[in-house]
Amino acid sequence: MQRFKAVLVERGADKKQSVSVVDLDESQLMEGDVTVRVTHTTVNYKDGLAITGKLPVVRRWPMVPGIDFAGEVVSSSDPVFKPGDRVVLNGWGVGEVHYGAYAGLARVKGDWLIHAPDGLTPAETMAIGTAGYTAMLCLLALEAHGVTPAAGPAIVTGASGGVGSVAVSLLSGQGWQVTAVTGRAEEAEYLKSLGAAEVLDRAELSGAPKLLGSERWAAGIDSVGGTTLANVLSMTMAEGAVAACGNAGGMDLPTSVAPFILRGVSLLGINSVTVPRERRVEAWTRLARDLDRSKLNAMTTTIGFDDLIPTAQAIVEGKVRGRVVAEIG
Ligand code: NDP
Repeated sequence: MQRFKAVLVERGADKKQSVSVVDLDESQLMEGDVTVRVTHTTVNYKDGLAITGKLPVVRRWPMVPGIDFAGEVVSSSDPVFKPGDRVVLNGWGVGEVHYGAYAGLARVKGDWLIHAPDGLTPAETMAIGTAGYTAMLCLLALEAHGVTPAAGPAIVTGASGGVGSVAVSLLSGQGWQVTAVTGRAEEAEYLKSLGAAEVLDRAELSGAPKLLGSERWAAGIDSVGGTTLANVLSMTMAEGAVAACGNAGGMDLPTSVAPFILRGVSLLGINSVTVPRERRVEAWTRLARDLDRSKLNAMTTTIGFDDLIPTAQAIVEGKVRGRVVAEIG
């Protein structure tokens, strides 16, 4: 029986949450038809929420957090996967209600896995991770809506974060003139190196939004929510669209119907967790094709297993720049 290290979050009788590194063996894994040796994982904002308990991401106790991994199949009763296959998983409640990626081994449903996309190394898939994959889902949603760079600039909020950094790179690579919104003025050069044409202080979008502001961008990718998203909507051009995927600045949305009914603005909701396999494969294929590798490298920090917990704590404090890859084994 193989033993391996895992991060475990537990909740005491007083409902207080704690996190530690433990030794598990294979028999303690949850049900699933494919067992995977995790080689790489990452730290997303949601992992930070799970480990700190800041929001109720974990809904089954105890829990091994980690919402995405790259790895190699060890055993499988699913005919789609055989031992030695390279696979990627993100979403499906893994790290929330099913033991997740912060462990040497994971056992999951074959339906949740995809084969590792051609053209990306396992480390690159996790440098992209759920955050980058979600940025691509946002881009696909904007494209499906029909908005193009010819219509005007695009705005990205939470730009120095994981979703934001990948969104800036992807949009600029597709010919968009990108306005990057950040609370970290010191990251202006970093954002320009990813392709931002303009960097806007987060404070400029944090006041009470007007019903309608001056029209400034045709498209947006928002990972912040709250007042920031409300301001973005009020300044989106007629027939423009904003893909909303995050709540780093709040769960609320203090907006009005004015942008929707007077400018025909569309708000496109993005949930990466339960996207069907075909769209997952499409998103990963586009990432492999379109994401500039030198920009991906520039936004990525590599850590080890023992750094997972402190990095997860740092991400909810807005202290992590870009993306993080964790090498597990
Ligand atoms: P990061 O922490 O890497 O990025 C979030 C960024 O938001 C920060 O870097 C910061 O950018 C900005 N930010 C943080 N706090 C505030 C605040 N109080 N007000 C305004 N801006 C703030 O997280 P991720 O990129 O991993 O995730 C971003 C969001 O997207 C999260 O809410 C996450 O839950 C969500 N998400 C949703 C998914 C879905 O399926 N819908 C999938 C993946 C992520 P800066 O310093 O540049 O201002």
